[in-house]
Amino acid sequence: MADVTDGASGRDAVAGEHAVVIAGAGPTGVMLAAELALAGVDAVVVERRTADEHLGSRSGGLLARTIEILDQRGIADRVLAAGSPVQVHSYGNTVLDLEGFPTRHPYALALWQNRFEQLLEAWADELGVRIARGRAISGVAQDAEGVWIDLDDGSRLRAGYLVGCDGGRSLVRKAAGIGFPGWDAATSYLLAEVELDEEPEVGLRRDERGVYAIGPADEGRHRVVARDDVVQAGDAPTLDDLRAAMRRLWGRDFGLRGAASLSRFRDTTRLAATYRSGRVLLAGDAAHIHAPMGGQGLQLGLQDAVNLGWKLAQVLDGTSPASLLDTYDAERRPVAARAQRHTMALTALSRGDDRTAALRDVVDELLELDEARTRLAGALSGLDVHYDLGDGHPLLGRRVPDVDLVTDEGARRVSELLRDARPLLLDLGEGAPLDAASWSGRVRVVRARARGPWELPVLGGCPAPTGLLVRPDGYVAWVAQDGSPRGLAAALSRWCGAVSGG
Ligand SMILES: Cc1cc2nc3c(=O)[nH]c(=O)nc-3n(C[C@H](O)[C@H](O)[C@H](O)COP(=O)(O)OP(=O)(O)OC[C@H]3O[C@@H](n4cnc5c(N)ncnc54)[C@H](O)[C@@H]3O)c2cc1C
Repeated sequence: MADVTDGASGRDAVAGEHAVVIAGAGPTGVMLAAELALAGVDAVVVERRTADEHLGSRSGGLLARTIEILDQRGIADRVLAAGSPVQVHSYGNTVLDLEGFPTRHPYALALWQNRFEQLLEAWADELGVRIARGRAISGVAQDAEGVWIDLDDGSRLRAGYLVGCDGGRSLVRKAAGIGFPGWDAATSYLLAEVELDEEPEVGLRRDERGVYAIGPADEGRHRVVARDDVVQAGDAPTLDDLRAAMRRLWGRDFGLRGAASLSRFRDTTRLAATYRSGRVLLAGDAAHIHAPMGGQGLQLGLQDAVNLGWKLAQVLDGTSPASLLDTYDAERRPVAARAQRHTMALTALSRGDDRTAALRDVVDELLELDEARTRLAGALSGLDVHYDLGDGHPLLGRRVPDVDLVTDEGARRVSELLRDARPLLLDLGEGAPLDAASWSGRVRVVRARARGPWELPVLGGCPAPTGLLVRPDGYVAWVAQDGSPRGLAAALSRWCGAVSGG
């Protein structure tokens, strides 16, 4: 049974020593905790906020690759039922439709972050994840064997590894001495859920003052995003700040009466100098921050968690050497850097001046070309992520397509075979079975025939494989094309741990 605790009553549940301590129960921390729970790792999440203290809803939805990942863990249906499919990506004025992309989810899902977090936590709860709320991590010191973690109630935890999922101002990142280079803010926006006495002008506007919008929110409230250009971090915004911004942008404040939430976000863009310093790792906003344009932040965090969880589990149970954790940095940092390039470009394109309008027109013209549109849609949706796992078949290092299979146990989708977050060897050939006996217990071997083409977003169709090693995060680590097991033992050793004679 899950152990979701609050304040002092939860002290005993988390006291002492753990394989992993996770700082922060935002979406990244909870996803990582769930991945570790699937692998049977003793992990605990420490969260500064109490159960009834919520952050305003930030992300408006989930992108296609994120939905695929949730599908791999068997929770896509419940999340999809809570939101509605939309085509959200755009560049300039051009909507980048995912229609026709080779994925079961060629769309984004409109779903506020706080609702998504509730669903994610419910799943983590089912897996037995422990979250200690109402206590903050206040100090971190690591040695060769582990990490000491001080909490603000004066207690101390010991962990084999500490993962900082504690957001953009990450204490863990600072305590580990990890740099956070990048770009200071050039603009800022107020974000609020407000009560208005008058019916507002709902919709998104763009003019010489930039982009600003009013939309419907829960319980008759409205969500307002208003540019205010206060780029220096300072005091929390007030209702008067919002009123002034609304009067400047819309010409009136629509009878602004109160705000259920009010915050300011900026386009500060920073990337951690490394995602790992010894036994301390970073994931999510703790590792990368940028403007919300393009809707990338939450998606990156969830995908960091899914990349890291199984690696950490394998290192902790001695299956793999600690160097496996370096692949987390090598794979995920470039993905965040690339996403930041897009968030910066999208922020620049959202300016309202005439020169930027001219640039938007040029971009729109280029995006009349199918290839240009497809490329950008692949990048923003996360469907085209490519980890550098060497040269060879186009599937190598890319997400495994969710092809229909016929197995000895009946019809299965590839993603259904990844539910337990374990490595998967798909034996798709007609000849002698692929031999992974030396890795028995470490990799699930499924003999199957594929029903349907092997197609990749952006790249298109690719030669049918006769064997695939798929990592628990859904990325392809080895491909056979001609029935030959060449390279399989090396790939199994690399990703599932070395064995004697393997
Ligand atoms: C206006 C806005 C709109 C956005 N829109 C989108 C969007 O459309 N799509 C998208 O993908 N992303 C969007 N984002 C980004 C998204 O909200 C973040 O990327 C996401 O919340 C990051 O998740 P996280 O778990 O890494 O960090 P957070 O959500 O920041 O969670 C960190 C957690 O750590 C806790 N914590 C902090 N310090 C400590 C400590 N010392 N000890 C213990 N706990 C601690 C905090 O209380 C918090 O719960 C938006 C952001 C903003 C501001």
